[in-house]
Amino acid sequence: MKKTALAVLLLIFFASYLSAAEKILIDNDQIQQYNGKLGIWESFSSFSALERKVRIYGTTISAVKSLNSDFNEKQISGYYFIPYSESYIESLKEKGIERKEVTLADGYYLWPVHDVMRITSTLGPRWGRFHAGLDIAAVPGTIVVAAMEGMVIKAEYESGYGNVIVIEHRNKFTTKYAHNKATFVKVGDFIQKGQIISLVGSTGRSTGPHLHFEVRCNNIPLEPMDFLPEEDEIVVHKLQSDESWKRETTSK
Ligand SMILES: [Zn+2]
Repeated sequence: MKKTALAVLLLIFFASYLSAAEKILIDNDQIQQYNGKLGIWESFSSFSALERKVRIYGTTISAVKSLNSDFNEKQISGYYFIPYSESYIESLKEKGIERKEVTLADGYYLWPVHDVMRITSTLGPRWGRFHAGLDIAAVPGTIVVAAMEGMVIKAEYESGYGNVIVIEHRNKFTTKYAHNKATFVKVGDFIQKGQIISLVGSTGRSTGPHLHFEVRCNNIPLEPMDFLPEEDEIVVHKLQSDESWKRETTSK
């Protein structure tokens, strides 16, 4: 009897453990998501260049038009989302190009940058002021993904922070992504966890390319490290011999 009860308890424990894990696909620089479509954000300065890529990716100009609200054939400049055809996605798959699947414990946020040079600042006082987030140094142009699903409530230039995106999540939580080089979302967009939202840059008051990342609840800044899993899913290039960015130092 006792053994049965223990088995049932174990089963319940594992079942709840399994349901508390979440599988997420993370965009990379070759396969990305926007408005439920898979494709890629690419920068163009001419219609003919864009048309060429549309042919390669097996899509149509009207499909591009429907995904890019400011599309104007006569004035092509900047980033456009070009959807891939099913067969193009298949051909990428054959080459081993897919979005990476990670398993996250329920409630955890995803690292917004997966190719990290180092963490240069954490939450707390800095230079006589309060630093409200985490600074993640990365190569300019590295993709930034949403840490949690939610709705974009801000996508604009903000003094000091440069190109900023703010996403609102459940229970009055928000995440902020600052100093972006390019922004791929607009206010009102619903974003999946792991979906590309921008590229790392150095816009605003910034000493070098990095993502300034904040987690707030009711507008109160929280320690982002508390929401992020151990660095398993991210690649950290150890440029410095000291590993000062690690969790131990963030308790302050
Ligand atoms: Zn910062």
